[in-house]
Amino acid sequence: MRDAAPQTIFLKDYTPFGFQVQDVHLTFDLAPNATHVTARIRFAPIKGAADKTFFLHGENVTLISAKIDGEVVTPKVTPEGLTCDVPDMPFTWETEVKIDPAANTALEGLYLSNSMYCTQCEAEGFRKITYYPDRPDVMSTFTVRINGPHGTLLSNGNPVASGDGWAEWHDPWPKPAYLFALVAGELIAHRDTFTTSEGRKVDLALYVRGGDEGKCAFGMQALKDSMKWDEDVYGRAYDLDVFNIVAVDDFNMGAMENKGLNIFNASAVLASPETSTDMNFERIEAIIAHEYFHNWTGNRITCRDWFQLCLKEGLTVFRDSQFTADMRSEPVKRISDVIDLRGRQFPEDQGPLAHPVRPESFQEINNFYTATIYEKGAEVIRMLKTLVGDAAYSKALDLYFDRHDGQACTIEDWLAVFQDATGRDLTQFKRWYSQAGTPRVAVSEAFENGTYTLSFEQDTPPSATTADPQPQVIPVAVGLLAVDGSEALPTQILELTEARQSFTFPGLAAKPVPSILRGFSAPVVLDHAADHAFLLAHDTDPFNRWEAANKLARASLLGTITKGSAPDPAWLAGIAQLLNDDTLDPAYRSLMLDLPGQSELAAQLHRDGHTPDPDAIWNAVHGLIQALSDTMADTLPALYAANQVSDAYAPDAAQSGMRALGSTVLNLLTRQDGGDQAQAQYGNADNMTLQLGALANLIRVGRGDAALAQFEAHWKDDRLVMDKWFGLQVGTAKPDDAADTAKALTGHAAFNWKNPNRFRATLGALAGHHAGFHAKDGSGYTLLADWLIKLDPVNPQTTARMCSAFQTWRRYDAIRQSMISKELDRIAATPDLSRDTTEMITRIREA
Ligand SMILES: [Zn+2]
Repeated sequence: MRDAAPQTIFLKDYTPFGFQVQDVHLTFDLAPNATHVTARIRFAPIKGAADKTFFLHGENVTLISAKIDGEVVTPKVTPEGLTCDVPDMPFTWETEVKIDPAANTALEGLYLSNSMYCTQCEAEGFRKITYYPDRPDVMSTFTVRINGPHGTLLSNGNPVASGDGWAEWHDPWPKPAYLFALVAGELIAHRDTFTTSEGRKVDLALYVRGGDEGKCAFGMQALKDSMKWDEDVYGRAYDLDVFNIVAVDDFNMGAMENKGLNIFNASAVLASPETSTDMNFERIEAIIAHEYFHNWTGNRITCRDWFQLCLKEGLTVFRDSQFTADMRSEPVKRISDVIDLRGRQFPEDQGPLAHPVRPESFQEINNFYTATIYEKGAEVIRMLKTLVGDAAYSKALDLYFDRHDGQACTIEDWLAVFQDATGRDLTQFKRWYSQAGTPRVAVSEAFENGTYTLSFEQDTPPSATTADPQPQVIPVAVGLLAVDGSEALPTQILELTEARQSFTFPGLAAKPVPSILRGFSAPVVLDHAADHAFLLAHDTDPFNRWEAANKLARASLLGTITKGSAPDPAWLAGIAQLLNDDTLDPAYRSLMLDLPGQSELAAQLHRDGHTPDPDAIWNAVHGLIQALSDTMADTLPALYAANQVSDAYAPDAAQSGMRALGSTVLNLLTRQDGGDQAQAQYGNADNMTLQLGALANLIRVGRGDAALAQFEAHWKDDRLVMDKWFGLQVGTAKPDDAADTAKALTGHAAFNWKNPNRFRATLGALAGHHAGFHAKDGSGYTLLADWLIKLDPVNPQTTARMCSAFQTWRRYDAIRQSMISKELDRIAATPDLSRDTTEMITRIREA
């Protein structure tokens, strides 16, 4: 059974379910092709409910029997679910259904991954397990019995009892069905304990396949750190006797916060120094924290409907970014987040897929797990905290937890908490939730009789979902520097609320240099002809100092691309000085060389009225790096040597910062020594960070063949390391070779395209290679479209998500546009295309 015809669902049509679910008892008799699920659910009609229809969702399930209070009934069954006449008083509903986990390649509902049963129910996977009101505002306690010949049988909540071939679990916390989870398999547990601030001793376990036992310690420590942090910072303690995490090879997302039983993509939890890079470790720490933090922001307080997804995701991303900043470095985390926001969210917000942080409609909710909901959603909360202040933010959060614990809530509930806690009117602020598009803020300055004036103009371009954007509340953090580099006025928050607004600063001896949007205080595009070289040298705000470097690099690159001008000497000199400044954190220095993304440059060129040429952009970026390498040639060997770690490997901030800078320097050094140092580093590396960094450089200078073969031979049995091997070859290919490289890799015996990690490592790397994907012969477009068409019937969710590679197509020249348009038409014309992919392609084509 394929998807039903696409239907648009609107926020304004929300109606509560007409029945209360009092409790749920499920029994699973596991078998790969015929798992039987028996459900016993006590329903009670809600008096005065507007909609009294008894409709239960159910897809790809075979109904065997249905009973009400023990009497057999015959519901009306459709591909989307069933309806039934039910009593006007509390009743017990019983069904038995049959499902086929082995045939479930979409990885939604109950499926098999390497002979292990696991589930993914967010957003709408539970309806593929049994008939149920599968909507987040229906919450209930669950008792689950699992019958199966497996060593490990897990579900949500606390263990009740178990025996040979069965186990029973009970979750006392009412939850929506999307938080349901079940795991069964032959797994090994890495165990630990944590005692909460409330004195509850919690048994922790991280379940993995045999052979992965050595990759658990870091994830477990990250979990304990997260549990402690949420107690210390948000006053939130854990609330069950056990907390289990399971690593799964086949998984569409990073991880899932099911109550008491988090399920993780193996790549987001398994780590060892030999197989994982520093970036992997940091990401794992952040994802474990994120899923754990959902226990309060998402599970205890959940979303009323999927339009409110940002209620749990924006807040939880914000919380995990605070955690990472506390565990590591605040400025480094902030800069990394902004790089990510500009790389993923800005293109979405400025293209055909633009949607508000809280969308008003969708066809397939899976398509709205986006950078806008998550990352912009987090930025909105960050702004809210900036506007009300830290103390009021804490007070509002306490009120949120007190008032809404156990409820399914809306953005209105969330904002009401802030209004009640602070007395502040948030009517205008709410536009951040209802308007799509990235606001642009233009700044001009004046200085007269000791008074300095900053004038702002805000403007949000219209988008598909927001035809006439209104002015937003934009907190702009501003500091003023004196000409000698000292701070004339420390950071203060200016609140923009109007389309045009000026702020004056009297009593200044001389015209200051402004440092605007410190800490990136709002997710906007700032348009300001600032003295970036001065700010690069003197700004006291670490973010804006980095931003100055970024802006100088951007201007230099744009100059090269549009006018053929030489790299900017001010940038070269400023960066050379900063990289050698030992007083600065190595991780921060390394970020100074993080140039604007090539796709971002294309967006800027398009905004400025040019047609971006991907090859010209690629050449300009590589030319700028070469120029820096030449400028710094004499100092590179010493700087490289100074950033080698002699202690035993640890994935902490200090060591990974040194390795990041060492790796940045190696990239420059390789352009001088032809790869000699990279070869030495590859030979001596005792950790994946150094090994992979060296390998990338060897490939770039054409010396990678032997190392690639050695790497493959050594790591062929480690699927996560092999993902890196696939991805690296595509990512480091020359633009003209990228599609061919990816195509050749799809013919490799280890290219298991049904595994989302391997698919993304290869085809996702191509989509992320700007000049390679947009190669002028169209080979990148065709290859990706071929594979999306092939993957769609197997895994619509991953297919649809990867269609976003085409979202920026209107930026490019007529020939590229026509080639992309042809591929979009070809995908759209595929028979039985999934609802997920149909919606994405339709939105992208309508650009
Ligand atoms: Zn989340």
